[in-house]
Amino acid sequence: MKRTKISDIFDPALIGSRVCVKGWVRTRRGNKYVQFVALNDGSTIKNIQIVFDMNDISDETLKPVTTGASICVEGILVESMGKGQSVEIQAKELTVYGTADPDTYPLQKKGHTLEFLREKAHLRPRTNTFGAVLRVRSALAFAIHKFFQERGFYYLNTPLITASDCEGAGAMFQVTTLPLNNLPKNEDGSVDYSKDFFGKPTALTVSGQLEGELGATALGAIYTFGPTFRAENSNTPRHLSEFWMIEPEMAFYDINDNMELAEDFVKYCIGYALENCADDIAFLAEHFDPQLTERLRSVIDCDFVRLTYTEGVEILKASGHKFEFPVDWGTDLQSEHERYLVEEHFKRPVILTDYPKDIKAFYMKQNDDGRTVRAMDVLFPKIGEIIGGSEREENYDKLLARIEELNIPMKDMWWYLDTRRFGTVPHSGFGLGFERLVLFVTGMTNIRDVIPFPRTPNNAEF
Ligand code: ATP
Ligand code: MN
Repeated sequence: MKRTKISDIFDPALIGSRVCVKGWVRTRRGNKYVQFVALNDGSTIKNIQIVFDMNDISDETLKPVTTGASICVEGILVESMGKGQSVEIQAKELTVYGTADPDTYPLQKKGHTLEFLREKAHLRPRTNTFGAVLRVRSALAFAIHKFFQERGFYYLNTPLITASDCEGAGAMFQVTTLPLNNLPKNEDGSVDYSKDFFGKPTALTVSGQLEGELGATALGAIYTFGPTFRAENSNTPRHLSEFWMIEPEMAFYDINDNMELAEDFVKYCIGYALENCADDIAFLAEHFDPQLTERLRSVIDCDFVRLTYTEGVEILKASGHKFEFPVDWGTDLQSEHERYLVEEHFKRPVILTDYPKDIKAFYMKQNDDGRTVRAMDVLFPKIGEIIGGSEREENYDKLLARIEELNIPMKDMWWYLDTRRFGTVPHSGFGLGFERLVLFVTGMTNIRDVIPFPRTPNNAEF
């Protein structure tokens, strides 16, 4: 008969009818008269309880029904007498699809640490925790598309393989088909990239922004949502080597429009998750982070603080707080500084603007003071920087001067400069690290636990 997903089985209208469910056994317990199986099929954090009357079924038939086994059950949905569930299924027919030997199934026991589960990343989606995280992640991805599509933004796919490290955002992963043990060489001993697949050195993208600007200055407003790669050896709980980034880019937006959009955007996503993932968020709150729901609500309800970098640095210096890294005007803020401003000083998210130009990318719009640029970073509790963005320098001469000042190879940049040569307009954009948003919404503390298959230095097993 037709299968009902467990997410749909708690419908009172189904009580009394025969249903069919399929899923993986979470637990089995009971006695010689009756056995209870908690079944989960991934559609919800909730398990459905299956009741086997041992008068109807032999021990032998039920033997393969152990934690991790996959089964199909047909039976009658009834109101449950027991505590913890509203309905249960009185089993009439059982099919075992696949067994999971209790002696070797890695998730046989409950209560594994997140560290242990990282070693079992191929199976951890079957746990309650990762089921919840992955469902929230999926809902957030949908919310992101919904937010932009409803506002007339076009989804633009920017290339993953690029020929320029224009962003300077981080070390890149080289892409090559040259034989590494027998590289073609030029006369001066350097590698002859004309023999490489693309006829020049290429790498995986660190950001889709520069191509995004090409889209924005044609379609008006675009967003990207795709994988991004950074070969930094930073082993932190907030960095991945492969992560997903959302990069909206808008013509005719100044930095204030940009800040407004960023604030609306993250609030929308968080609100969407609260509304559509209530069970999963409640589970994560209960098991990992009692303040989670309250923190998510408070971010939606407050106005983000808007502050210049210079003011932020003054607050940090006057705080008397002892930081691991000293802070002074001109230094890049560490996450401890960002979190101090957000968690201790203002107790709400902060948008920090007008950073020193020397610690920001070449394309940011230069302020008249000659020292700062119109950057904006959105700083969040528990996370630090969740969004980095700016108004872009639309003036051809100023942009070119900055490119030359920083010795960025011009031959890589001609196509980007064309946006300023032909019909240039004021425009802005930002990048949201998807996993940092998922971290915030799920209350998890390590970024490796909010992406199905994390890529970090020395880790690409699964
Ligand atoms: P950070 O200072 O935290 O390393 P960044 O300034 O290098 O970040 P940007 O280049 O501004 O980051 O990228 C935009 C956004 O992408 C960041 O605000 C962050 O949310 C996210 N992000 C950047 N690097 C990573 C990474 N290695 N792993 C996961 N997310 C990242
Ligand atoms: Mn940044």
